[in-house]
Amino acid sequence: MSTQAPAPIEEPSGPRHCLFVSDVHLEASGGAAERQFLQFLRTEAVQAQTLYILGDLFESWVGDDDPGHGEVIGALAELSGHGVNCFLLHGNRDFLLGEDFCARTGCRLLPDPVITRFGDEPVLLTHGDALCTDDHAYQELRTIVRAPRWQRRFLSLPLTTRELLANQARAGSKSHIARIPPRIMDVNPQAVDAAFRATQVRRMIHGHTHRPAVHDALAGGQAVQRIVLGAWYEQGSVLRYQDGLYALCELTR
Ligand code: MN
Repeated sequence: MSTQAPAPIEEPSGPRHCLFVSDVHLEASGGAAERQFLQFLRTEAVQAQTLYILGDLFESWVGDDDPGHGEVIGALAELSGHGVNCFLLHGNRDFLLGEDFCARTGCRLLPDPVITRFGDEPVLLTHGDALCTDDHAYQELRTIVRAPRWQRRFLSLPLTTRELLANQARAGSKSHIARIPPRIMDVNPQAVDAAFRATQVRRMIHGHTHRPAVHDALAGGQAVQRIVLGAWYEQGSVLRYQDGLYALCELTR
């Protein structure tokens, strides 16, 4: 994983009450995950200082001119309007979220990875796909589609063409996932270790793998912790941080 210039972005001591979500995978057609996420924004997130969305908020995002997801965009704007800081990382499905989306919602995009402080502790936040280095085919694709030149060319295509290409990409991704062993879809332990050593943080938070868990380990002789958020396909997954304590929770439907 690239560890270029992660920098603290919060006030020196960081917020005391934060929420983290990842992989909500909202579909254009709405559905149970969207209802649950809207309720989460309006009841729980509105009471927090800061909400971090660590990628793949949307199942697909082909550009900020996408006319869908109006209710979610409105709810995020309302949340920002209440003074809740909303930070957003790109996921592998919504890496084309851009400045217009941010202007409409009040969300702020962070680089991936980024280090921010919670209490006095620097913590590494990342979507997590860059840690899945055993999936060589995916990493090759990632390098291509994250290049600014590729993105400019893609975004210059008509919306319907982009949607068509995104549907093809999703079908391709599904058959790729069906062909490879589940182990390949998880993070690579050496990549995790390298990220801890390079950044010197003792804690990282990510999603992407859909394997919610809290992993305690050693990296460079130091005790470290990797918190993995779950996807919202079957139930919500939220990491609650308050006054130095982290709690990974399921939101049942
Ligand atoms: Mn993902």
